[in-house]
Amino acid sequence: MNTYFDYNATTPLHPLARQAWLRATDQHWHNPSSLYRHAGHTAQQLENARERLGNLLGAEPNRIVFTSGATESNNMLFAAYHGRKTAISAIEHPSVRAPAHHHTHVTELPVDQNGICQLQIPHDAAIVSIQAANNESGVLQPWREAAAHCRKLGIPFHTDAAQWIGKLESTDLGQCDYITGSAHKFGGPKGCGFLVLRHEDEHIRFHHGGPQENGRRAGTENYPAIEAMVTALENAHPQSPEPRDTFIHTITSAFPHIRIISAGAPRLWNTVLMVMPAHDNLKWLIRLSRRGFSISTGSACSSGREGSSIVVTALGASPTELKRVVRISSGWQTTVADWQALTTAFQEVSHELDTGGPGA
Ligand code: PMP
Repeated sequence: MNTYFDYNATTPLHPLARQAWLRATDQHWHNPSSLYRHAGHTAQQLENARERLGNLLGAEPNRIVFTSGATESNNMLFAAYHGRKTAISAIEHPSVRAPAHHHTHVTELPVDQNGICQLQIPHDAAIVSIQAANNESGVLQPWREAAAHCRKLGIPFHTDAAQWIGKLESTDLGQCDYITGSAHKFGGPKGCGFLVLRHEDEHIRFHHGGPQENGRRAGTENYPAIEAMVTALENAHPQSPEPRDTFIHTITSAFPHIRIISAGAPRLWNTVLMVMPAHDNLKWLIRLSRRGFSISTGSACSSGREGSSIVVTALGASPTELKRVVRISSGWQTTVADWQALTTAFQEVSHELDTGGPGA
């Protein structure tokens, strides 16, 4: 048995995305840049996928550059702002934080006690970047307000929406100047994503060496992955937070000293970030894993490193609390019974750890 509760790290391939990938690989494997008829069909299919994605995001298709995923998109964007002043939230994913600090002079915007970014935007920033939903806590960030505020200030606004897209309605994301997305977060294949740009960025050459993506990103397009990504997004729908909330209710009754991070804030329907009352998170993770449950200690990129939760750090937690953080994130395959089984497993593991049972 493997009951998967780590959808924020990655998702299984959606069955319809898999079908779309196989069909595209079998029938449209030709190089879209080649000149014969079959290649032309692949190029048409590619542009059709771009249009469908544009509709889903509320963005004109020619603003979309397909990439290998959110990390590449974020790196491309900050490289384009090299040497400038930027503002990012204090809880951005490392794929925003690291290139922002590498390329630019960064002001970090603080979060309040609920983990919501405060819009104290410096007027001299060349770009502002605030994620749409946090990957660790699931907290929804005020990207709409930030986009409107930046528009008034005349500052371009970027949102890393890797955790929002596919979980919540995305058709108004297009009002942001820049959007980052990643297929494997919503049932698409790994190694595929996109960066939405402004019209005036047509001239930007992120990668040199070919005419693809309107000259902006050289390299043969991965049409099968792109087709699978768009198909996955067409079939991704918001779900009810109820099973997650029942889990929170039961687990807080079972462990009164548990701390649910940002419990009072609007969050993604699938995510729970919590600080366990006792025992290091790796002990929980390993014992739950033995019972067939896959959970996380925070973001996948930081798991295995003790005390590395960016969100819990930004909320001012103590070093011991940081070692007790666990993240649970569900998806379209998760059932109510899975959540119930997880609650029971937490109770069993707690007993094992408290009493020094097998390998505690
Ligand atoms: N941004 C956010 C908010 C994420 O959650 C992730 C994945 N953990 C990334 C960026 C990186 O995505 P990718 O794996 O597509 O590079």
